[in-house]
Amino acid sequence: MDFELNQEQKMWQRIVREFCESEVKPHAAEVDETGQIHWDAIRKMKDIGLNSLEVPEALGGTEVDTISIVIAMEELGRACGSTALSLAAHNGLGCAPIKRWGTPAQHEQWFPSLISGEVLGALALTEPNAGSDLLNGVQTFARRAGDEWVIDGSKAWITNAGIAPVITVLCRTDKDAGARGFSMLLVDTKSPGLTIHPPEKKMGLKGSPTHMLSLDGVRVPADAVLGEVGRGFHQTMATLDNGRIGIGALSIGLAQAAFEEGVKYAQQRRAFGKPISEHQAIQWMIADAALEIDAARLLVYRSAWLKDQGKDFTKQAAMGKLMATEVAERVCKNAIQIHGSYGYSREFPVERIYRDQRLMSIGEGTSEIQRMVIARRVLQEFS
Ligand SMILES: Cc1cc2nc3c(=O)[nH]c(=O)nc-3n(C[C@H](O)[C@H](O)[C@H](O)COP(=O)(O)OP(=O)(O)OC[C@H]3O[C@@H](n4cnc5c(N)ncnc54)[C@H](O)[C@@H]3O)c2cc1C
Repeated sequence: MDFELNQEQKMWQRIVREFCESEVKPHAAEVDETGQIHWDAIRKMKDIGLNSLEVPEALGGTEVDTISIVIAMEELGRACGSTALSLAAHNGLGCAPIKRWGTPAQHEQWFPSLISGEVLGALALTEPNAGSDLLNGVQTFARRAGDEWVIDGSKAWITNAGIAPVITVLCRTDKDAGARGFSMLLVDTKSPGLTIHPPEKKMGLKGSPTHMLSLDGVRVPADAVLGEVGRGFHQTMATLDNGRIGIGALSIGLAQAAFEEGVKYAQQRRAFGKPISEHQAIQWMIADAALEIDAARLLVYRSAWLKDQGKDFTKQAAMGKLMATEVAERVCKNAIQIHGSYGYSREFPVERIYRDQRLMSIGEGTSEIQRMVIARRVLQEFS
C-alpha cells in the first residue's frame, strides 16, 4: 500500500495549484457576481491540458491517469466552484464518453474544437420529469428515418449547453426495450430544431451556465450514435460512475478552501481576550474539518486508484462522492460559523463556497441515490 503521490503526480499537483492560484482563484468572486465564465483562464488552461484531461495525446490532448484528474478537480474546486463544475462537466461528461465510445471519425470531428479552449463540452441526461430515475422517466425519443435520427423532447439542467459545439443526448430509441432501449446521440448545437434556453438562475455556481434544451424534430446523421444503439443507458451509468470521482474531488477542493479560510480567520479574530482559535469550541470545528476532509480525500483517491488498476470502483466512487459532498456541506457551514457575521457577508469567500458546494450532493446522483448504489452492492456481497 502506498499513500504517496508519485513524482509525476506531485509535479502535476504543483503545476495545477500554481495555475489555479494565479489564474482562477483571483477571479472566483467576480465569476460568481457576474455569472460569467472567466474565458481567459479557460483559454490558458489549454497550455497545461486542464481542458483535455480525457483526450488522448494522439488527438492533441493530455490524457492523464484518474488520480491526476482527481488532483486537477480538487485544485480547481479549491480555487473556484463555478469554473471547476464547468470543467468537470467538460472533461468527465463531455469528452470522456466521446473518448470511450467514439469512433475515430467522431474523435476527429469533435476533439479539435472541444480542446480549443474556446468552448466546453456537455452531456444531456436529465429532463424536466426525469433525474434520478432516468430509466423510467426519460421521454426524449429518437426515431430512425432513413439514414438519420429525428429527436423530439426536452432536457433540463445541462451544464455548458450554451457554450458547447456538441451535446451528447441520452434518447430513448426503443420504447419497449427497457434499459436496452436507450442510445446516446451526438447533437451538433447548430442543428435546426435545437433550442438552448437562457441560463438558469441558481443559488450558486453562477458562473457555470446551466440550460434547458428543447429538441423539436432535430435531425442527426445515423453515424451520430455514440457507442452502440441500445447501450445508451449502460453507457450513462458507466459515465456517472466515472463522473462521481470528479465531483467527489471537486467537493474536497471546496471543503479545503472553506477550511483554510476558517482556520486563517480563527487565528486573526479575537474574542474574550484571545484569538478565537484558542477557544475549544472553535478548535473542535477545525479538528472535525481536518479529520473529515482527510477521510473523504482518502475515499475519493481510493476510487480513482481502483479505476486506474482496472478494478471495479462503482461502490467506492459512490462512497467517495457521498462522503466528500456531505463533508463539504458541514465544513462550509462551520467555516461560516467561525466567521460569525462576516461569514454571512459577500466580502468573505465562505458564503460563496457554501452556496457552490450545495449542488454537489444533488448533481451526478443525489446522496440518496449514492446510498442506493452502495446498499445494492453491499447486499449483493452478502447474498
Ligand atoms: C447546477 C446543476 C448542473 C447540472 N448539470 C447536469 C448536466 O450537465 N447534465 C445532466 O444531465 N444533468 C445535470 N443536472 C441535473 C442533476 O444531475 C439532477 O438534478 C439530479 O440527478 C437529480 O435529479 P432531479 O433534480 O430530477 O431530482 P429527482 O430525481 O426528482 O429527486 C428529488 C428527490 O427525491 C429523491 N429520490 C429520488 N428517487 C429516490 C429513491 N429511489 N429513494 C430515495 N430518494 C429518492 C432524490 O434523492 C431527491 O432528494 C444538473 C443539475 C444542477 C442543479
